[in-house]
Amino acid sequence: MEEKSTKQGSLFVVTGPSGSGKTTLCHEAVNRTQASLSVSATTRRPGKNETHGEDYYFLSHDDFNKYIQNNCFLEHAKVFDNFYGTLREPVEEKLKKNETIILEIDVQGAKQVFSNHPEAIGILILPPSHVELRRRLENRARDSKQTIEQRIEKANWEIQQAQADEHFKHTITNDNFERAVQELIDIIE
Ligand code: 5GP
Repeated sequence: MEEKSTKQGSLFVVTGPSGSGKTTLCHEAVNRTQASLSVSATTRRPGKNETHGEDYYFLSHDDFNKYIQNNCFLEHAKVFDNFYGTLREPVEEKLKKNETIILEIDVQGAKQVFSNHPEAIGILILPPSHVELRRRLENRARDSKQTIEQRIEKANWEIQQAQADEHFKHTITNDNFERAVQELIDIIE
């Protein structure tokens, strides 16, 4: 009889304020390890260099709601006026195959994942300082002044929420990119 393995892959949840550089960090860690990055669904519009199916699955509100009704999301949350969600099936499939998967999501979503997967390991990415966070957000030239203020307010709230949650076992300060990537890789491996 075929022996079934009960061993599951590892699930990492990377959270941090926008402007902390977490997306770039995660991509680099995935390039240098066996881990893969989950592709989220969102109702926000694609940015200039973003590709459907690679950066996100860009969905209409109607389709996003259908996914919610059909219980397709492992977690979903409203972040800055848009909806974001992690598709359940690809994550569960990879875990069953004993693969390592990284979710790069906000803290509200992270908490939902931890309630379904208490074994998941949370990693909080911090920007070097408040001043640097503001500089990074302004340099992206993607957001209006009002949006930047909202993002800074959310950043402080998000950091507090993550620091108060025992599932966030690691904190990485992204003041030196190469060192931060190495820290992330060490945790994953
Ligand atoms: P952005 O629009 O800048 O790509 O992402 C905005 C925020 O949404 C970031 O904090 C990012 O981590 C978060 N986010 C991206 N995908 C997901 C997801 O699937 N679920 C949740 N809860 N947050 C997400």
